[in-house]
Amino acid sequence: MPEWLALYYREPLELTHGEGRHVWDAQGRRYLDFFGGILTTMTAHALPEVTKAVAEQAGRILHTSTLYLDRHMVELAERIAALSGIPDARVFFTTSGTEANDTALLLATSYRRSNQILAMRNSYHGRSFSAVGITGNSSWSPTSLSPLQTLYVHGGVRRAGPYAHLSDAGFTAACVADLKDMLGQTHGRVAALIAEPIQGVGGFTAPPDGLYAAFREVLAERGILWITDEVQTGWGRTGDHFWGWQAHAEHGPPDLLTFAKGIGNGMSIGGVVARAEVMNCLDANSISTFGGSPVTMAAGLANLTHLLEHDLQGNARRVGGLLIERLRAITAGFPVVREVRGRGLMTGIELVEHDGSPSPEGASLALELAREEGLLIGKGGREANVLRIAPPLSLTVAEAEEGATTLESVLRQVQFTIAGKERP
Ligand code: PMP
Repeated sequence: MPEWLALYYREPLELTHGEGRHVWDAQGRRYLDFFGGILTTMTAHALPEVTKAVAEQAGRILHTSTLYLDRHMVELAERIAALSGIPDARVFFTTSGTEANDTALLLATSYRRSNQILAMRNSYHGRSFSAVGITGNSSWSPTSLSPLQTLYVHGGVRRAGPYAHLSDAGFTAACVADLKDMLGQTHGRVAALIAEPIQGVGGFTAPPDGLYAAFREVLAERGILWITDEVQTGWGRTGDHFWGWQAHAEHGPPDLLTFAKGIGNGMSIGGVVARAEVMNCLDANSISTFGGSPVTMAAGLANLTHLLEHDLQGNARRVGGLLIERLRAITAGFPVVREVRGRGLMTGIELVEHDGSPSPEGASLALELAREEGLLIGKGGREANVLRIAPPLSLTVAEAEEGATTLESVLRQVQFTIAGKERP
């Protein structure tokens, strides 16, 4: 394994099995999972319907290729197309979010006959050659040799730089003016803008309401496509909406939507949705060997059915709303916590030192302490100082309470450490 591949935690955590919102390690310790296996467990660990669908399909046929017709793939594509909000939608399945974004770039650049892409600062879109070329976060973008011409747009984090102290309205106006100015300076046509509705790896940061809608107006006037990367924000995770883009829908649906992670509940599914006109623009055939395989499609169908039948989006809104309220209340007296933010079951806790500078050490310590207390959380943000909470969408109120109580204890200890005192 390469040296750039790092695991979480000082001592690697080896997981052996899971059930519901819990996972167990090789020593038999149980953890409440507040990170959903980095959001791949959408509904619940070892969801019986998914396990059954996978086992049945594995016992039937294991061919894997988009060369053959498979009814699970067609059915899942039809359901996702209908849910996407994109008119006359077509779906192409891949095996990961990276490959979904790669395909979206292939489509957008081909449709527009241009390799110019707009991406957001502080974004993360995957790890292929083209995806790192639109990732606006140097820790996750290890090369500058992309064949794409990428222009990075302001709009997510505004902690540093000239926009740091602006109000939401001022920030939105400045970002839109910047976008227009940038477009006035570019040669030729820009193919697309790709954005996460809430930046995931970037630390669960959302743009102010209205910003993406204002961007959309500028793009639509110029025929520039809008790609929404729903790899983290899709499937009802944000509570109020099924997709993150729906919080910014004033100027209509996106042209392309990419998804992955949770839909497979651990099986590798990704995909792109696009208007037929855009999806059909390629001149040659394209095939994926593992994308849309019968086993993963059967898992996706069972998982999506469970999500919709149990209204897990509604659960994300209700339980996520309680969780964020509770976390705000318990962290109110902790100077180490700069902000608790989020939507639905996607909550970020940003940690700072006493001088207000980002505290990556605080975040690393919090991860370790939470593990000791039986809770798994994630971290992110450009300065790696944001705790990321994204449990399976079936989280119960009691589990939310339990996790919040653990986080209170963890953050109290981090607070003591940051203040230079002994841990209690
Ligand atoms: N887009 C976003 C917003 C992501 O968060 C990720 C993964 N963290 C990806 C794309 C890439 O997905 P994958 O890891 O499945 O390739």
